[in-house]
Amino acid sequence: MSELSHEVLEFLVCPACHAKLTWAYEAAELVCTGADCGLAYPMRGGIPILLIDEARRPETK
Ligand SMILES: [Zn+2]
Repeated sequence: MSELSHEVLEFLVCPACHAKLTWAYEAAELVCTGADCGLAYPMRGGIPILLIDEARRPETK
């Protein structure tokens, strides 16, 4: 399974800022929708790893 259902996504929030997460299909990541956050959390074995230490930070411009 490589995709999360929308029902599951409804319950997931970013542990850093508590904004909703969106599923980035191509990257297989859960991306925070918070404007000042934007952390991307990996999925491992179909389980979202919602740990700030494991998250990929957005590239700064
Ligand atoms: Zn966030």
